[in-house]
Amino acid sequence: MDLAKFKEILLQEKAKILEILSSEKEIDTKTKDEWSEPKDPEDLANLTMSDDLRKKIYDSEFQKLKEIEEALERISTGKYGVCEKCGGPIEEERLELIPWTRYCSSCSKSFGRGR
Ligand SMILES: [Zn+2]
Repeated sequence: MDLAKFKEILLQEKAKILEILSSEKEIDTKTKDEWSEPKDPEDLANLTMSDDLRKKIYDSEFQKLKEIEEALERISTGKYGVCEKCGGPIEEERLELIPWTRYCSSCSKSFGRGR
């Protein structure tokens, strides 16, 4: 596995998030793109409450930032790409999609949360 490549991707994602968190304008743009298809009535309600929505995006970006930092930590300790649940290797295609994931695809499916 090419750790340097994933480290690079993670650092880029981290920079992107920091930019979003430091710029309200970025958040507005992101809001429009990612929330254009509300999945349930709760999401729809949130769409009309921009302060709540903004907080929600902040929370989710902070969460992602945390995950990315932990993934970078795993790279430096040599534990990157190992599933935290079953201890098996995480598929490289999966890491390409979600470089900060902690679980292999089968463990992730058993959680039923898409991560
Ligand atoms: Zn697993």
